Amino acid sequence: MTCCKRYPSRLSITWFRNRLAGFANSGFRQTALAINPVLKLSLAWIPIKMLYFCDWLRAARLTAAVVTIGVAAVSFSLADEWKSGIEWQTPPVVTPGEGMAPPSDAIVLFDGTDLSEWDGAQNWIVRDGYAQVNGGSITSKQHFGDCQLHIEWATPEKVEGHGQGRGNSGVFFMGRYELQVLDSFENPTYVDGQAGSLYKTKPPLVNASRKPGEWQVYDAVFTAPRFDEQGNLLRPGYLTAFHNGVLVQNHTEILGDTKWDVPPTYSPHGERGPFSLQDHGNPMRFRNIWVREIPELTAKRPAK
Ligand code: MG
Repeated sequence: MTCCKRYPSRLSITWFRNRLAGFANSGFRQTALAINPVLKLSLAWIPIKMLYFCDWLRAARLTAAVVTIGVAAVSFSLADEWKSGIEWQTPPVVTPGEGMAPPSDAIVLFDGTDLSEWDGAQNWIVRDGYAQVNGGSITSKQHFGDCQLHIEWATPEKVEGHGQGRGNSGVFFMGRYELQVLDSFENPTYVDGQAGSLYKTKPPLVNASRKPGEWQVYDAVFTAPRFDEQGNLLRPGYLTAFHNGVLVQNHTEILGDTKWDVPPTYSPHGERGPFSLQDHGNPMRFRNIWVREIPELTAKRPAK
């Protein structure tokens, strides 16, 4: 026949961009449809229909094809979504800080002006927005359990000593689990005692230290261990930490108190504890210390 042009038209189902998709080829264009994933295993490629039509039938058949595709698309999309049925609480709104500034829900432990949030700090030096170690370790007045910590620190610009004697301090969660602070810039020491280590438990994944005197940052997520009423360990603690934005501890299991002279061993304690900043004899500086408590999300589970 030469009275009209002929256009192939077909609907097929095949893989497309890592999904199973239906292709309606009317001769003018192709339309991709999302297909119920249930069909993925059972359908690979199914040519459904091959139509040929000429000019005067084109409009009617194209209309029918579009209607068919539309119905298929609606039914496929309705079948595609899965919902848990869990009614989660609406996450509260938190305004992020600019740069390193604390977010709106953070508890600020040191903003550069005073150490009123700390015990034992009467001899520490506060000036130019930082606090400097001087005369003993300090302990936060507020206690925390699961939390996110931000703290900035700097080792002395003038290098003195070596190994553990150079730029040593530490951030102790619950007063007993130490994220080591040390000048680890070209300063070899035992690796589970260098900066970013969970002291005597696990070395950092990498050494992300800046040069002596430069400000450095720890951002950490701490999960407190749980004990039952008899003091038995129900669940260990965990630590995730970033050093200058680089991951150094990835959900590291805490094995117990991090001491220099004995292996890590748990001693039962309460659900909350203070932060401690260590005086190890070096004039370390700290600034911009804030904490966010990590709540348990609540939800209504669907009745079974
Ligand atoms: Mg230390």
